[in-house]
Amino acid sequence: MANHSAPDASDRGRRVPCAEGEDALCARMQELEQDNNRLREELRRRSTFLASMSHEMKAPLNAINGFTELLSDPSFGPMTDEQRGFVSRVHEAGNHLLQLVNDIIDIARVDADRLAVDPQPISANHCVEQAVLIGRGMARDKSIRIETVTDATQPVAMADDRRVKQVLFNLLSNAVKYSDPETLVTVRVQREEGFVRVSVQDEGIGVGREDQERIFEVFERAEGADERAEGSGLGLPLSQRLVQLQGGEMGVKSAPGRGSEFWFTLPLAVRPE
Ligand code: ADP
Repeated sequence: MANHSAPDASDRGRRVPCAEGEDALCARMQELEQDNNRLREELRRRSTFLASMSHEMKAPLNAINGFTELLSDPSFGPMTDEQRGFVSRVHEAGNHLLQLVNDIIDIARVDADRLAVDPQPISANHCVEQAVLIGRGMARDKSIRIETVTDATQPVAMADDRRVKQVLFNLLSNAVKYSDPETLVTVRVQREEGFVRVSVQDEGIGVGREDQERIFEVFERAEGADERAEGSGLGLPLSQRLVQLQGGEMGVKSAPGRGSEFWFTLPLAVRPE
């Protein structure tokens, strides 16, 4: 298992060497460097606390979810329709909370340099096709079609299959959530110089230019998203962190009312000379 830390981790604590005659500027740079290291350490400590606290919330949440499932089992005695409805809402809310807690744990772990990814050579086409099979289940209720356009050159990425699928599920569930019924979602795999590019394109509500950076921040949502669908603003920041941790990048091309294309890259396992 490789633990891929933030790209500048190797620079931590490094001192900027001072050239002769530049003492004042150099001292200021060293101060800034120290402030920077302190802030990084503070972020790491806070993220570790958040990850541990969220982890502690999982056991009681799993108990709530498990016991509500048991309550719904008729062999434990009869319930009125109204009671069954209440139990089902507790169960839904419990699952939703568990998903939030899992996302917060992952984000906090990345920020604390404590999330391990396991990069292996994986077929990008195959990984996308498997994720889309599950994505089609999410799209069925709205009769949204998901098509894949794979790359005939069979690109092999150096990536953690489970984490790439986690990113794809997030992008696919957003594409479905922010699109009208009976529209089309297209997932593309394309080889690029040294990278493979994967994109999820929809015909949904789109994202205005002013929101395109903000939506990758924790708990941020685009203008109008609240009226459209429930959400917490954790999926994209987590996905972007997971992609960056594997040496890739993530971004969006979109215009309001004209759909969105969320894309990410992953390094190729064998890169050109
Ligand atoms: P959530 O969807 O739970 O709010 P995300 O972090 O996944 O959280 O997305 C952040 C925001 O980005 C969303 O609230 C929405 O405003 C916007 N967004 C994400 N995906 C799409 C999409 N495919 N089409 C339009 N807006 C999107």
